[in-house]
Amino acid sequence: MVSRFGSRKAAMTIYKQTCTNLLELSSAKVTEWIAGFDSVITDCDGVLWIYGQGLEGSADVMNQFKAMGKSIYFCTNNSTKTRSELLKKGIELGFNITESGIISTAHATASYLKRRNFRKRVFVIGSEGITKELDAVGISHTKTGPEVMMGSLAEFMAQHLKMDTDIGAVVVGFDEHFSFPKMMKAASYLNDPECLFVATNTDERFPMPNMIVPGSGSFVRAIQTCAERDPFVIGKPNPAICESLIKEKKINPARTLMIGDRANTDILLGYNCGFQTLLVGSGIHQLKDVEQWKLSKNQEDKKLIPDVYLPKLGDLLPAIVNSLTGEK
Ligand SMILES: [Mg+2]
Repeated sequence: MVSRFGSRKAAMTIYKQTCTNLLELSSAKVTEWIAGFDSVITDCDGVLWIYGQGLEGSADVMNQFKAMGKSIYFCTNNSTKTRSELLKKGIELGFNITESGIISTAHATASYLKRRNFRKRVFVIGSEGITKELDAVGISHTKTGPEVMMGSLAEFMAQHLKMDTDIGAVVVGFDEHFSFPKMMKAASYLNDPECLFVATNTDERFPMPNMIVPGSGSFVRAIQTCAERDPFVIGKPNPAICESLIKEKKINPARTLMIGDRANTDILLGYNCGFQTLLVGSGIHQLKDVEQWKLSKNQEDKKLIPDVYLPKLGDLLPAIVNSLTGEK
């Protein structure tokens, strides 16, 4: 018989980057896999909810993990909401979470600038999630919202263009009012090498049925191209987003599960931090994408292969109930 430690260790390593479908494992194997992690970090959009609608069973699974004594963290690249707004949304959708369990790029961006003792003004391409978090740490910033082109480019430059003189950073996140004037201003501020270039995240698009909604990465790329500079990226897959959890020993990376629907942010973060990884098919990436990465000769693609897979997080609920009742 395998010792408790032995079976846990095995569960941690045998599925490493195999994209094993948990629905094809026995209840006993799934129970063993669940015993292999103490902390769960989950992405939000595409795993827990989609555009404000909770995904069936996700809250039950996360709440069960918590009831089992596992520590739970929500980690989102979505910069449109503050941590307290995300907390409110999570609670409304039935998740048993606290604000300290929420890692958001809007909050992390403000914390990053605060740590650098930033004292100038931030030019924000983004939404109120960012500006409210900057306000909370006392960093001044430009307004969000529409900034539209007026007249021809020549007319705009002669009559309407107003540049700030004290901008020390350009922060780019999700901005539904992204525009030519914003792009022109951002690139011009970034022409000063002292001006910081910070991207909340580089997700290409939002998970949404029927329509393609551009994500922050689309705006970041546009600015990056005309500024001819690369940004510092705050969000996943940069391990910096989880650095304090690891440094303060709130989580043990080897016994932490990262759940996500997007491999090049969520699963890659897991790879970068040494977490176990679970891809769910309810958002951006699917099994057919993983098959491509398995065949790819590019080593970077191999990093995107998750340990395990589920069509959706709620599919784990029967296995959790079985593991609680001891059924095999
Ligand atoms: Mg997602």
